[in-house]
Amino acid sequence: MSSFSCPHYDVNRDWCERIGDLCVPGRPGCVLYQNSVFAVPWQERLEEKRRQAEAMSKDDLLDQNHRCVD
Ligand code: SF4
Repeated sequence: MSSFSCPHYDVNRDWCERIGDLCVPGRPGCVLYQNSVFAVPWQERLEEKRRQAEAMSKDDLLDQNHRCVD
């Protein structure tokens, strides 16, 4: 087992500065593409992250719409 720290990773946004999209290790354009093996294919992990990001942005909108204005 080994660990990896990517210089392209923005931890605050879970973002890849190299690709300009969500960080999904092993996806095309990633430094790990073609030299690493993952238990779950990158396509499935990307789809799950997009679902989560969409759900979070909907929650943000709901929060903004339910804020009280004095
Ligand atoms: S997708 Fe790959 S290159 Fe981009 S931040 Fe994640 S690990 Fe690094």
